[in-house]
Amino acid sequence: MTAPERHLAALGGGAPAGGATTDAAALLTELLDPVFAAEAGWDPERRVLSVPAGHPLLGWRPCRVVGCNTIAYPATGICRGCTKRHRASGLSEQAFVAAGKHWRTVGVSGCAVAGCARAWRTSRDPLCPAHAYQRRKRLPLPLPQFLAHPQVRPLPSLGPCRVASCWREQASGVRPYCQAHCQALRMARSRDPGLDEPRWRRLAPAVTERGKVSLRGLPPLVSAQVLYGLQQRCRAGVSTPVCAVRGLCDRLRAEQVASIEQASTITGAWLEPFWRKLVGYVTAAGLDPDTERAKDEWNMAAFGLTGHLRFTAISQRWLREAAKRWVIHDLPQRRGDQIVGVVQSHIDSLVAVSRSLAAGRRHDRGADPAALGRGDIEAFLNRLAHLQRRGTLSASRRIVHVRNVGKILTRLRGLGFTRPGAAMAGLAEDFTIRPEDLPRPPEPPEPGRDLPTEVMRALCEHLGRLEERSAREFRVATELLIDTGRRPDEICELAWDCLGHDSDDQPVLIYDNWKRQRQGRRLPISASTATLIAEQKTTVRARFPRTALTALKLLPATVSNPEGTRAISDSGLGGRHRRWVDELPPLLLTDGGEFDKARVVLYAYRHTYAQRHADAGVPVDVLRELLDHKAMDVTKRYYRVGEKRRREAVDTLTALQFDRHGNRIWHHAKALLDSEHTRRVIGQVAVPFGICAEPSNVAAGGHACPYRFRCVGCDHFRTDVSYLPDLHAHLDDLLRTRERLHAATDVEDWVRADATPSDAEITRTRRLISRVTHELDQLTNDQRTQTEQAIAVLRGHRSTLLGMPHVGPPVPNLAPERTA
Ligand code: SF4
Ligand SMILES: [Zn+2]
Ligand SMILES: [Zn+2]
Ligand SMILES: [Zn+2]
Repeated sequence: MTAPERHLAALGGGAPAGGATTDAAALLTELLDPVFAAEAGWDPERRVLSVPAGHPLLGWRPCRVVGCNTIAYPATGICRGCTKRHRASGLSEQAFVAAGKHWRTVGVSGCAVAGCARAWRTSRDPLCPAHAYQRRKRLPLPLPQFLAHPQVRPLPSLGPCRVASCWREQASGVRPYCQAHCQALRMARSRDPGLDEPRWRRLAPAVTERGKVSLRGLPPLVSAQVLYGLQQRCRAGVSTPVCAVRGLCDRLRAEQVASIEQASTITGAWLEPFWRKLVGYVTAAGLDPDTERAKDEWNMAAFGLTGHLRFTAISQRWLREAAKRWVIHDLPQRRGDQIVGVVQSHIDSLVAVSRSLAAGRRHDRGADPAALGRGDIEAFLNRLAHLQRRGTLSASRRIVHVRNVGKILTRLRGLGFTRPGAAMAGLAEDFTIRPEDLPRPPEPPEPGRDLPTEVMRALCEHLGRLEERSAREFRVATELLIDTGRRPDEICELAWDCLGHDSDDQPVLIYDNWKRQRQGRRLPISASTATLIAEQKTTVRARFPRTALTALKLLPATVSNPEGTRAISDSGLGGRHRRWVDELPPLLLTDGGEFDKARVVLYAYRHTYAQRHADAGVPVDVLRELLDHKAMDVTKRYYRVGEKRRREAVDTLTALQFDRHGNRIWHHAKALLDSEHTRRVIGQVAVPFGICAEPSNVAAGGHACPYRFRCVGCDHFRTDVSYLPDLHAHLDDLLRTRERLHAATDVEDWVRADATPSDAEITRTRRLISRVTHELDQLTNDQRTQTEQAIAVLRGHRSTLLGMPHVGPPVPNLAPERTA
């Protein structure tokens, strides 16, 4: 079935015979809102649109030049003709506009003779040709006297111009055309002496008149399609210049199409997408979710989306129905401009199940859900593994398939789809994905997706160029992505009123986490980010002064957005961001190397934000809050302290490592060998204010110290400058405990003596702190900066080590059996 046939079948059913065409045209006409038609200036009798200047989406501005009433270019407010004449005049724009129009006006009006039904010849000689002839040959009087002369009588119309598109009257009895078409015919003849005049009449475009579009000469279905498409486009808030509608109608007429989809010569950067959009609207007319559900290929226009969902590749009927049911359940919960693609990718995962069942040993190829069980799921998992080994399926796609199938099956069970009588009735409980079925995800490559500082600096320096090349909104969006680390869709969709303040009057960004459906999240932001948002709010309000503030977006789309209620899309932002980055000079690293621009993507700013905070020592649980993750594991994927960065930090701090006496262990700083790094990881364990190399404690994960964590008196203990804050905290804790126990009256003396920290421990700790501090003071400024950075890196990473004893009193050994 061709597109028009499908369309006609969808609208009226049946083949595109004359009857179906009439039905389709009638249906579209029925769907045409009379209010829209009236506002757009549709005259169904004349079949002409006379769009008024004030129409919010189709309207136009008259030229500013005094006396000119032609449609102006929106940017300058001056029409095309006046722009040309202005350039030639040498006058300033102001002087030219004030000088006024002094040339012929395009357009026609009635003959100046009262009651004459014919059109004037020109604005300077406003008489019909017959009356002009009378005046020239018989009554050569000034116009007012001529009009008042008793022999001058009104004349009847000669009938309409015979050009199909034209709504004007015939000009004279000599040729059956209006004056403009008489002239157009002469020109066409001079180009083609053998011109087929009847054909020319059918195809010639209408005369261009301000705000007017002729739908004459188009079949009823095509004109109904144009009007309906235009209505839907306006409903979507998209503006359309009148010249585009006129251009489209002329092309459709020139092609003599029976239906808008049949056009084949519509090209042009503007006209073609416009035509395609109208075809989309028309194809979607009459669709609704209920009609689509019954099909195996859904036109998502029925759900207010674009594109199609295809279930045809799922061969088992029960699975196909289950997939549809899942989509119906899932669609309302999704947002963004990639919904159809994401949902189709889930359907594709079920297609993988379907293919596995069809290729299996079952004679019914998986048609009976009641016969399926764990073995079929295992066959599916093995098939995916096989496809990955053969190289026809990527490792990540394999994981996605398994995860999607697990999610969908669980959801469908929850929806009662396995109950008796339902499509999945009888499906065994073990036909499911277990946690252990999920293939291990490949380790993300190092270094992470964050951008180096020097690259970030270069990008920030060139942000102005992003605004020049696109629009202010895209520059502000990128700055907000950098500053706040939100996901691109979270930034694009920010409400106008997204700036709030916490109880301590610090600024917060209020945003919606669309991915996890958590709304109204509050993120602490810096004062400079708050200023950026406040400025953007002011700009947007000035652009859309009448829109209700609750509906306004902080980053409104730059086109087709008359009310400011539609935000820029993350795909649009991504495209402009890509072009901007590609046009930048090479991004150089401090070692002179060049950074790959392909890695500068919108999401990299989120990773950079996470890394920036991790390096500043923000603990992983706080970072989880900042990134609005539910699971710590997800945060850790962002929070990877790059292996290279950590090694550099370890190497730096190795030179500042001390034993329990405060003696430097490594006097000569040098990079550790790879094996030494590994040994350090497996041969030691973190203890409250340093590291312990005591074998039994290491084996017990730091929970089995044979000496009750008196580390400052133990030869297995080492510390470095990064633990200085912890050493201070420990000393404070010892002193506080001693004071408290001195004052305690509710314990016996031996308890007090045993529990009180010894003077030796306090002295040792004090001495260790002073030795470490002294060594730190010996560093040059450069060494100190380097050391501080290394401390930040290691402290940030350290807080991700789960199972580490807390800083404070020794952690009791809760697992006494794990002694070695
Ligand atoms: S006292 Fe500290 S360093 Fe010594 S074994 Fe115990 S935990 Fe390790
Ligand atoms: Zn003008
Ligand atoms: Zn006349
Ligand atoms: Zn005409």
